[in-house]
Amino acid sequence: MNKIPPIDLGQQYKLIAQEIGVAVEQVLASGYYIGGSEVARFEEAFGEYIGVSDCISCNSGTDALFLALRALDIGPGDEVIVPVFTFIATAEVVSSVGATPVFVDIDENTFNLDVNKLESAITSKTKAIIPVHLFGQSVNMTRVMETARTHQLSVIEDCAQATGATWNGEKIGRIGDIGCFSFFPTKNLGACGDGGAITTDNTAIAAKIRMIKDHGQSSKYNSEVVGVNSRLDALQAAILNVKLRYLDQWNEQRSRIAQRYHQFLGAVPGLIVPTEATPGQSVWNQYTVRVLQRATDLIFDRNVVRAQLAERGITTMVYYPVPLHLQPVYEDLGYQPGQFPVAEQLSQEVLSLPMFPELSTEQQDSVIYAIKDFLSQ
Ligand SMILES: *Cc1c(COP(=O)(O)O)cnc(C)c1O
Repeated sequence: MNKIPPIDLGQQYKLIAQEIGVAVEQVLASGYYIGGSEVARFEEAFGEYIGVSDCISCNSGTDALFLALRALDIGPGDEVIVPVFTFIATAEVVSSVGATPVFVDIDENTFNLDVNKLESAITSKTKAIIPVHLFGQSVNMTRVMETARTHQLSVIEDCAQATGATWNGEKIGRIGDIGCFSFFPTKNLGACGDGGAITTDNTAIAAKIRMIKDHGQSSKYNSEVVGVNSRLDALQAAILNVKLRYLDQWNEQRSRIAQRYHQFLGAVPGLIVPTEATPGQSVWNQYTVRVLQRATDLIFDRNVVRAQLAERGITTMVYYPVPLHLQPVYEDLGYQPGQFPVAEQLSQEVLSLPMFPELSTEQQDSVIYAIKDFLSQ
């Protein structure tokens, strides 16, 4: 039985092994492993790719979000609006700076922040909104920016899962005040370890972030604020410089795979394929379907389908099984089950199918066949 993984990073490495090898060896031979020309080159290239004046590299996507909040002086007493259906990091950083995450439910078609529910979450303490471009698809940024400008709120985009995605022809990460990216290996642009970046057109914010990420130093041994140590290693920067050249091509391959899943799974009973919001272009970090539960027929339960696929060697993922308001860490915020019905329902239904640029037609056919075979019974 040929096993089909959710993502195959080893296979991607094989395709670019020679280039990566040269880049890594150059860094190793240089003797400079922190900062240096590869890091500077990456910041410039990535800033240009997104279309902003400033790009600041850092250690992870989580750090990027943390640094963004710090740069905006968000802290105790402040509230920040976060979708309830995302990776924990998005809310965790808000708590880390001493502020309070305020959750908003999601839209059942896009899995993203329900922009119609934004207004009612805003209070006199609200300082910022963190729209998360989940699974590779942009949030409705037109609406987010309108609401933010009306209430004078900052917008920090969580772009971790959507490097290269656009909204209304514009790259995400340059629409809000600050864009935060992750180069965790499974993201669309992934390092061989941790990495992150912040993008902005605000040079004052950029300068502040550069200071905070470097121990609060405005110049060497002159610390002005409490900072952190958050760096992108030279080795990771060298690898990302190679991979950035392939990003658009890889995103196109993901898109072709997504269209094929749509084509063959779009009419399967009990299954809902993901919707693309217009005028956006998803980069398909995940292809996430909904397996509808039927009270009378538990055979259509998501977990059963997942187990059946696993038996055939197909590994699927569940992002995310528990919405943030039901996480133990946020018990003291006082949210109740039932408060975010869309996220709660989707957390029971979502199933992410194998999705990576190198997924072969043959492999994809096996996934499609297995799902159809099982759900058409
Ligand atoms: C991956 C991810 C992060 C965190 O990125 P790291 O580089 O792993 O710290 C934040 N938000 C979302 C939505 C993510 O998917």
